[in-house]
Amino acid sequence: MTQLTDLTLAHARLGLRNKHFSAVELTQAYLDAMAKAKPLNAYITETPELALAQAKAADARLAKSEAGALEGLPIAIKDLFCTAGVRTTAGSKILGSFVPPYESTVSAKLKAAGAVMLGKANLDEFAMGSANITSHFGPVENPWKSKRDPQARLVPGGSSGGSAAAVAAKIALAATGTDTGGSIRQPASFCGIVGIKPTYGRCSRYGIVAFASSLDQAGPMARTVEDAALMLVAMAGHDPLDSTSAPQPVPDFAAAINRGVQGLKVGVPKEYRPDGLDPAIARLWDQGLEWLVAAGAKVVPVSLPHTSYALATYYIVAPAEASSNLARYDGVRFGLRVGGETLDDLYRKTRAEGFGTEVRRRILIGTYVLSAGYYDAYYAKAQKVRALIAKDFRQAFDQVDCLLTPTAPSAAFAIGANSDDPITMYLNDVFTVPTSLAGLPGLSLPAGLSADGLPLGLQLIGRPFDEETLFAAAQVIENAAGLFPVAGGRP
Ligand code: GLN
Repeated sequence: MTQLTDLTLAHARLGLRNKHFSAVELTQAYLDAMAKAKPLNAYITETPELALAQAKAADARLAKSEAGALEGLPIAIKDLFCTAGVRTTAGSKILGSFVPPYESTVSAKLKAAGAVMLGKANLDEFAMGSANITSHFGPVENPWKSKRDPQARLVPGGSSGGSAAAVAAKIALAATGTDTGGSIRQPASFCGIVGIKPTYGRCSRYGIVAFASSLDQAGPMARTVEDAALMLVAMAGHDPLDSTSAPQPVPDFAAAINRGVQGLKVGVPKEYRPDGLDPAIARLWDQGLEWLVAAGAKVVPVSLPHTSYALATYYIVAPAEASSNLARYDGVRFGLRVGGETLDDLYRKTRAEGFGTEVRRRILIGTYVLSAGYYDAYYAKAQKVRALIAKDFRQAFDQVDCLLTPTAPSAAFAIGANSDDPITMYLNDVFTVPTSLAGLPGLSLPAGLSADGLPLGLQLIGRPFDEETLFAAAQVIENAAGLFPVAGGRP
């Protein structure tokens, strides 16, 4: 029997408007599902009372035909977005009891569109990680199971692992994520859902706990391409409170999904096909290209020659910015305070106790690459390479309209695997990081399954502020793949 939680966001939206069910009924169905899915640990904080109150208010607006674009639709908010009056932890002990007095612009926009907040989704501490295992609040489990080893508990990817797991497990209709180097796209790939990191500046960063300010960007995670488009319309837009948010009009992304790809030039960067690429992923990539060609697109080989420097560049730039952003957690103004003999002692004790291992590693790397004597050798050099990476993409986009690549080099792995080796963990982002450094939009969607029956994603990369082409191409792949992910739920 189809349950309310099986509906996609687009269908639930229609169901509410046509009065097939109420927002309170829909929200209650999600709260019941959340209660059963506790072992996944997808939420850090659940807000059932708030959700039901918001749903009731949504029903009143629906009755008066005053409905917002997402009226009455229950979603999860990554616990990196400040929510007024609701604890916001960033997955860290240091913010374990932080209740913000203000709301992030993105969550405020979703609220204004009528969305109902089910709770705050788990994440890697300060969004640093690729497996959601660095959260102070414990790991998140991916709802998918490997056929070969059904007992294994798999990671959902990271850092937006709670958001991805919640959407895939149908304990949220959709969720917000943030992506600094892949944190929307890689978990979307691991959990069989759609996630888009929009162009840098498309969504306001105001009220999002900062990791690396020149890279951080919010975006939606959803079950289908259409759902992601509907979410992004509500989340995007210029914000005077964020000087890096772009004064660009927000197109109707949901209308773009039916554009098709007739005549579209799709680039295939040769550097994304290293010798060791998993054959199943290489096959899926070829299959994705065939689907686009069958729908009228043209495939063009391109080169992004500085790709191999992207990961090293990212792991200099991102920790440098993080070390500066995280300097504010000093035990005086925010969150945790561990008393000391002197002020320096208080700083030291608070930060030693409040930050986990990965965050401390990043602060140390970041402080090192910014320090006098090393700044030119590392940080300034990395900024130059970053400019070259961006130039690679600009040259490719002289020839093509978008690029198709894999999202991640593997399917989801077991909780505990790769965790003692930071480099192996960092390699998860090899296909997503270059896009972030160049500020370009990247969309991941489920395109097939591994031999173990686990979802594999493909990534579409576009020109700045051309998310519409990504939605159009993604819809063609989604239709052709005909997948029925756990996330699918189409009636
Ligand atoms: N996994 C990458 C990192 O650990 C990216 C994280 C992100 O995009 N927030 O930095």
